Amino acid sequence: VVNPELDLLVLGSGVGGLSAAVRAAGPGSLRVGVLTKARLDQSATRWAQGGVAAVLGGDEDSIDLHLADTLAAGAGLCDTDAVRILVEEGPGRVSELIALGALFDRDPGGALARAREGGHSMARVLHAGGAATGAEIERALVEAVHATAAAVMEGWFALDLLVSDSGTGARCSGVRALDVDGVVHDVRARHVVLATGGAGQLYSVTTNPAQSTGDGVAMALRAGVAVADVEFMQFHPTALHHPAMPRPLLSEALRGHGALLRDADGNRFVDELSPRDVVARAMTGRMLEQGVDHLWLDATMLERFDERFPTIAASVRSVGLDPARDLLPIAPAAHYLSGGVVTDLDGATSLPGLWACAEAACTGVHGANRLASNSLLEGMVFGPRVVEAVLAGRDGPRATGAMRGVLGAEAPVGVRHLALALPPGPPAADGEVPDVAKARDELQRAMTAGAGVLRSAASLAATAPAVAPLVGLRPTGAAEAELANLATVAWALLRSAEARTESRGAHNRSDHPETSPALRHRLVLGGPG
Ligand SMILES: Cc1cc2nc3c(=O)[nH]c(=O)nc-3n(C[C@H](O)[C@H](O)[C@H](O)COP(=O)(O)OP(=O)(O)OC[C@H]3O[C@@H](n4cnc5c(N)ncnc54)[C@H](O)[C@@H]3O)c2cc1C
Repeated sequence: VVNPELDLLVLGSGVGGLSAAVRAAGPGSLRVGVLTKARLDQSATRWAQGGVAAVLGGDEDSIDLHLADTLAAGAGLCDTDAVRILVEEGPGRVSELIALGALFDRDPGGALARAREGGHSMARVLHAGGAATGAEIERALVEAVHATAAAVMEGWFALDLLVSDSGTGARCSGVRALDVDGVVHDVRARHVVLATGGAGQLYSVTTNPAQSTGDGVAMALRAGVAVADVEFMQFHPTALHHPAMPRPLLSEALRGHGALLRDADGNRFVDELSPRDVVARAMTGRMLEQGVDHLWLDATMLERFDERFPTIAASVRSVGLDPARDLLPIAPAAHYLSGGVVTDLDGATSLPGLWACAEAACTGVHGANRLASNSLLEGMVFGPRVVEAVLAGRDGPRATGAMRGVLGAEAPVGVRHLALALPPGPPAADGEVPDVAKARDELQRAMTAGAGVLRSAASLAATAPAVAPLVGLRPTGAAEAELANLATVAWALLRSAEARTESRGAHNRSDHPETSPALRHRLVLGGPG
């Protein structure tokens, strides 16, 4: 048993976990520990390019327009209360980050520079280092956490939640984790925050780093904690089509500045500023029609490319392409899990003592499809809200936000509970997978073929046999644990995608191309009810 005296144990060191940890060391301070499976500065957060959407005072944009754009992208499944909190509290959190030392790009007059991205009706995306926004945010937060956290456990792998029942009902009391030497420990804390990020590694082509294996969502599913909206895996339309992993991202900002999409014949085929799902769908349709595995981004008309987008210029040039001259090969890549562990407006999950924030959570802010640049913002806003709630003495979920329907309360977006029977372990007696890397690769291929940008009842059913035997693996190390977690999230995604017999947001069924008003509800796995 490690650190029995921690008030708050944060799992993960991306924008959500670190924002929570920094706030926990602030007024009213809590004894906080951060446990993360790689180095503290390694996360999807540091790869984020385009920026953070936030309406700052004194311009013609408004909070309501940001709200409206977010709701429009979310295709009927956003929780409006959660979105209002996101857009109203966001600007204050950006100011706090600047006060902490994060350097955002400024225009020659010294005002914060703002870009426009797909799905945004105004230029409101703040950025740093051109397209190195996540790296700068991560740098500022890591520095602050090193200075304030009671414990930093780098290279520790959280395996599963510890759930105890002292007579007043089940509550989370810590995690079981592997330390850097692979030794198992029970790390106890009064409260645990899941900030373990997304699950892009479910697919062969992804922008996400190798750590994005859905561990937190899988732990929640195994513990019977409510999880929702996992069928909404957002595919980023414009990842560079190159064998590098994770796929270098050609940020929306390029299209915001005028870059064009061209098909195999050089023709334009979609409004470049449409939301991501629309662009990814149009691209996949066109790729199928033309029988090609990539299309083109034409950025040849953009002036001062290297100066304005140094990160993108570096990745493009590293594979021998010159953006001023060459069309850039692109294909959609798994990018962002819009769903996750269901929370109320303060990050409380259905299990008392367990909280979730940022990409691992389903706060309801993204609905069926996340608006570009809203996810860094979500971590910055909802991470600290968890801490405020803990400091206020909260311990379990309230019927607010996306949690309303889960707790059986009246909710603007209703819920349907799906039974999730997790398949048992593999038939082999010892349950060991001989080649974990190969098994992971096969899982990714199966998910890409059957549960990617376009799915159907037949393709989902054909994918299940590749996933089922891996769900119940009893891992002996971190690599097997990640494989079992990927399979568990894949299983939940297949189940949800099969039940959602419509196309909505990031979920597209070739056998049900229409959006069905009758299915305007969240699909919830686990939790009460
Ligand atoms: C290439 C790219 C570009 C992006 N661009 C933007 C953008 O411009 N704007 C925007 O808003 N969003 C962007 N995003 C999305 C955004 O970066 C992420 O959604 C966000 O950073 C997620 O933050 P997080 O706190 O949820 O976790 P992450 O940053 O994903 O970090 C998760 C953390 O959890 C740890 N962890 C996971 N499992 C375990 C375990 N079992 N035990 C211990 N630790 C664990 C990981 O090591 C990591 O530290 C981009 C994403 C990518 C990949």
